[in-house]
Amino acid sequence: MHALALLITRDRGLIENTVESSEVESLTIECVDRLADATDRLKLHDAVRALVVDLSPFDKHEIEALRVLLHAAPNMPVLVVGDDNDLTRHAALLAQGAQDLLLKSNLDGGGLRRAVRNALARKARELAVFNDNERARVTLASIGDAVLSTDSSWLVSFINPIAEKLMGWSCAQAVGRHVSEVFQVLDGITRERIVPQMELAIQKGRTIILPSNCVLVRRDGQELHIEDSAAPIHDLSGEFAGMVVVFHDVSESRAITQKMSHLAEHDELTSLPNRALLNDRLEHGITLARRHGRQMAVLFIDLDHFKHINDSLGHLIGDQILKAVAGRIAPCIRDSDTVSRQGGDEFIVLLSEVNRAEDAELIAEKIRLAVMAPYTIDSHYLHLTASIGVSVYPNDGEDATALIQYADTAMYHAKEKGRNNSQFFKDDMNARAAERQILTGDLRHALTRGEFFLVYQPIINLVSGAITGFEALIRWRHPTRGTLTPADFIPIAEECGLIIPIGEWVLREACARAQQWLAADFKFETMAVNISAVEFRSDQFFDGVCRILRTTGLEPRYLTLELTETAVMRDFEATRIVLQALSTMGVRIAVDDFGTGYSNLSYLKRFPINTLKLDRSFIHDLPESVDVCTIVSSVIRMAHCLHLQVVAEGVETLQQLRFLKAHDCGEGQGYYFSKAVDPSECQSLLQLTKLRRGRKFQSPALRAVK
Ligand code: C2E
Ligand code: MG
Ligand code: MG
Repeated sequence: MHALALLITRDRGLIENTVESSEVESLTIECVDRLADATDRLKLHDAVRALVVDLSPFDKHEIEALRVLLHAAPNMPVLVVGDDNDLTRHAALLAQGAQDLLLKSNLDGGGLRRAVRNALARKARELAVFNDNERARVTLASIGDAVLSTDSSWLVSFINPIAEKLMGWSCAQAVGRHVSEVFQVLDGITRERIVPQMELAIQKGRTIILPSNCVLVRRDGQELHIEDSAAPIHDLSGEFAGMVVVFHDVSESRAITQKMSHLAEHDELTSLPNRALLNDRLEHGITLARRHGRQMAVLFIDLDHFKHINDSLGHLIGDQILKAVAGRIAPCIRDSDTVSRQGGDEFIVLLSEVNRAEDAELIAEKIRLAVMAPYTIDSHYLHLTASIGVSVYPNDGEDATALIQYADTAMYHAKEKGRNNSQFFKDDMNARAAERQILTGDLRHALTRGEFFLVYQPIINLVSGAITGFEALIRWRHPTRGTLTPADFIPIAEECGLIIPIGEWVLREACARAQQWLAADFKFETMAVNISAVEFRSDQFFDGVCRILRTTGLEPRYLTLELTETAVMRDFEATRIVLQALSTMGVRIAVDDFGTGYSNLSYLKRFPINTLKLDRSFIHDLPESVDVCTIVSSVIRMAHCLHLQVVAEGVETLQQLRFLKAHDCGEGQGYYFSKAVDPSECQSLLQLTKLRRGRKFQSPALRAVK
């Protein structure tokens, strides 16, 4: 059994006295004369847990001797045995670290043992407290949260290193100051000081968690967003003893959250509010407008032909244009209004307060003009126009979805009216929009159900009167609406992309028909097929033409492709390459509706064009309008100079025909000669020509000219 304590003394008498009455096994006694011997003995008995020492006879001063022994036995309680009652000496020894002082005169075995046990218990408690404190100190220094504690008078008693960093105070500076001086926290919104409320709650014994928008004002005045909680501390008797505040910096995570919510609500390209945010604002606006009996307007803005700019100049330029447009729209409206980008080339403007509908019209006009001003982007000088639809709350609709939808419908109407204008929503537009929707659905099945057919309009040589060719024109035998003409469905087909398979079908059908007639030995020069801009832009267009010519066996020289000026005007270089390839194969190119589109005629020289088809709007005014007569005769002259053929479209009267002949127009097409007719009728016309081989084709009307 191990000894409980080591008794070091030189006083034999003390030993005898003690040994007699104590349990021998609990005490190891060593008699030494010198301090050095005492420390040596200590090393020998490493299992003892307490040291009882009589310091008086040592060769060193007793305070110094005590220090040496404490150092040699750092975790042991040291009890000092002495002969006097000198209180000053006792105090000095206790201050130095002695656990207890025992009077030799009172010392017996039992007393000694009790004293040793008490000292051991005290030492154990001391150690435990030290360990706890140490653990707390290390924990507080190493956790990621800032910690501040106060005493019961709200004076700071401690701040950890993170708190030092966040607050800008060192622990030494902060300790002893009132908490509200060091820890200045404001409500992020009201800017009220929060610490007083915190103190009130804490004093009532509550733990509080502060709102997440708290702002900590650092010592240098800088502000941080923090999240914190504060809890009261109580002493053993349950009395309030101070508080502990734990807090951390949330500035960074707040910034990230803010950025994320910005991203979720804004368009990345233009930084304008997106659809979601617009809806929010619109709904909020409707609530306010309803409460105050006010009107609001929604402007749906769509750029005209933006897709073509994007396709021809590339997305990077397209993106820059969209940004520039966003920059043009914003200054046209008030701060309380919203411009948003819906994606693509669509923008929606919410005018949150309009007194009269005309105000909305004025702003729409302002925006339209702002968008129209030229753009210089990467050395490209560009013009853009926009079509704008307007809907007004509460007249047109009372909820966000309806207002946006009606503005959209009105925008379509603006497109139909020739683009670059603005239109207010009208009730009947809805019916038309619904109609359009239904027609789009029907159009999807029309091809597979074989509802399309072609009619052919003869093209006549105005000098000889012979049929030089035919123009293939599509018709749709709609299951319930009867026969529809291209104006009823081609724009829809273009919009939904169905024009591509439809156009391919037309081309194949027309080429097959031409080949069939040629094989039957009918004589004519060309089969003209209308190609929409959307088809022409498609990547597969050229290959499609080649494939169809191959499969139908039609020689390319019999095919004329009719393109409008607007179709050939976009992306000069790409157009030139495709047209050149077609022309090299022998396919002929005609510019359809000539005179209605582009004003710059230089393309006529740069592209391999064979024919100009003079738009029927000019022919219509012949020969009454002097201006038109001048235009038509000039165009014919110019075409001759450029070695282009001219076909006059929509010849309806003898007067028109006479004028055209008098001005050397080569060919014509129109009701005066023949409407577009079905293939069997074409065949009869061709048959007539064949029978009168070598003689002119003469329609009854043409014969009348002669
Ligand atoms: P377009 O190419 O200018 O075709 C001539 C249009 O004028 C045809 O109308 C024709 O019926 C009409 N027309 C012919 N002679 C006269 C006349 O003397 N007086 C009047 N007032 N009109 C006359 P349609 O068939 O309704 O075609 C309209 C337009 O639709 C065509 O104009 C063409 O641009 C387009 N189109 C027709 N078929 C197709 C097609 O298969 N594909 C594509 N993409 N577009 C087509
Ligand atoms: Mg045509
Ligand atoms: Mg035409």
